[in-house]
Amino acid sequence: MSKQALIWGAQGVAILALALLPLPDFWITQLNYIGLYSLTCLGLVLLTGVAGLTSFGQAAFVGIGAYASGWFTLNMGLSPWLTLFIGLAFTTASALLVGGITLRMSGHYLPLATIAWALSLYYLMGNLDVLGKYDGLLGLPGLNVLGWDIGQGRGFFVLTWALVLVAAAALLFLLDSRAGRAMRSLRNGKLMAEAMGVNTLRYKIIIFLIAAQLASVSGWLFAHFQRSINPSPFGLKMGIEYLFMSVVGGIGHVWGALTGAILTKLMEDQLQVLLPKLIGTSGSYEVIVFGIVLVMMLKFLPDGLWSMVQRKLPRPQRVVDWAQAAALPERSKPAPGDRVLHAKAIRKQFGGLTAVNNISFEIKAGQIVGLIGPNGAGKSTTFNLITGVLGLTSGEVVFRGEVVSGMPSREIAKRGMSRTFQHVKMIPDMTVLENVALGAHLRGNKGVVSAMTRTNQAEERQLFKEAQKQLERIGMGQYLHEQAGNLAMGPQRLMEIARALCSDPALLLLDEPAAGLRHKEKQALGTVLRQLQAEGVSILLVEHDMELVMDVCDHLVVMEFGTLLTQGTPEQIQQDPKVRAAYLGTEH
Ligand code: ADP
Ligand code: MG
Repeated sequence: MSKQALIWGAQGVAILALALLPLPDFWITQLNYIGLYSLTCLGLVLLTGVAGLTSFGQAAFVGIGAYASGWFTLNMGLSPWLTLFIGLAFTTASALLVGGITLRMSGHYLPLATIAWALSLYYLMGNLDVLGKYDGLLGLPGLNVLGWDIGQGRGFFVLTWALVLVAAAALLFLLDSRAGRAMRSLRNGKLMAEAMGVNTLRYKIIIFLIAAQLASVSGWLFAHFQRSINPSPFGLKMGIEYLFMSVVGGIGHVWGALTGAILTKLMEDQLQVLLPKLIGTSGSYEVIVFGIVLVMMLKFLPDGLWSMVQRKLPRPQRVVDWAQAAALPERSKPAPGDRVLHAKAIRKQFGGLTAVNNISFEIKAGQIVGLIGPNGAGKSTTFNLITGVLGLTSGEVVFRGEVVSGMPSREIAKRGMSRTFQHVKMIPDMTVLENVALGAHLRGNKGVVSAMTRTNQAEERQLFKEAQKQLERIGMGQYLHEQAGNLAMGPQRLMEIARALCSDPALLLLDEPAAGLRHKEKQALGTVLRQLQAEGVSILLVEHDMELVMDVCDHLVVMEFGTLLTQGTPEQIQQDPKVRAAYLGTEH
């Protein structure tokens, strides 16, 4: 870490030292604009690249930072160093308001809402008398430190790029942390994230806030660099351009933001000179070229330019430095034989269809209970009712003596219920170890600030130690640093089990863990399940593979058309003529 910090520090100083080179002023100015764009694009990397939230409204936050600082310096005579924070306060308030409303929306509603937000703020800035309408605010003071003017040129360069580099480092630190893993889990919907105990709405709002603040700082710099502002750089067109830059550079990567900003600015300047010469008339033809470039990029290089560079770079290996870390505290477990779960006449209706019809069963500590039945019998729905993904129509779920029905899945996860998914849900571009560490989310508490300042390292070591322990527990010790997306189906399913175990569950729910596994892998899974049972883990198992079910389960619950057909030991079930007729008859 300290060696890494030295290397980073040296690189940062080298970039800032560009100011000492005899570069023409023109290039310094260009680099200043690139720095301004980069700040906003860094926010988009987090918002759109990492969390999958598309925003066309970032330019509006740049505008808030710029106008707030501009107005208060002009009208109140405040120093720009103070009005920076006034701008950030305005940004925070508006981001919380806008984010609080829009981030609950899914799919294309969010981008549409950010467009509406961008348009309305633009017209607000253009129509308010106090903000100078479309003429804007003129004669803003430049930035200076102790009388030394850094509002332009090289001084401004050092300030802007120092901010860009600090922001980039903070984001890199953030993404490699407990909070960062939670943020990276948002991209694939909230089901898995919430099941791991991640408060998805809260993280989305935090991400939205961080992105808005970065844009706001950029706006503050811009206002005092230009010394005058009007609404046009803060409109929807610019919001689209920020997104364009980030996508071209590589919206999934922190350095992609910088790559995109550099490339777009340089291309824009070159084209503005070149195109009129080529075509013979002047006009904003570069916009057309940009459009074509973007379409080509999306088709041939959807991960952006930086991804090409990154492929050439060595993949940094995580140093295992957590061997000496303290073990995470464990929750008290139910005593063997205690009732862990009691489903009491749980029922779920989807309109006229009764998917689960007054099903009752219980699971005792240390038991593996199998939930079986033909396709469409209602097993997955039962699973979702117990884990809080779906609300019950009637009935009650009691977990460790507490009624948990009605609670969101995150709250139920907190109480010690953990699950896997019928279709594996993971973060493919994270390592196996990082994916599994996400399962321990609720066992840590370090947030965004400690991640950005790297004061989270003791806890990080504990989380990784736990993740490694769980991977070794199920025989995945050799896959720690493998990229999860590269795993075959069998190891992927085992990884999900390790992730669920990482939460230190009192009850583990597995939805078809053997689906898509080869015979050898199924046998290995059976061994893992029996071993977990021997260690006292209670399991609810939904599974189609009868050999596995009969082999590992202590008790079976058989469903058909949403209703309980029968329940009993595997021997009783195998001999039950009703089951043979209804279940085995239809299956085989
Ligand atoms: P299983 O997991 O046993 O194959 P499911 O629980 O997935 O069965 O489905 C049980 C029944 O409920 C099926 O008829 C299915 O079509 C229906 N169903 C499941 N989820 C929904 C839903 N969200 N809306 C409407 N019907 C659903
Ligand atoms: Mg199912």
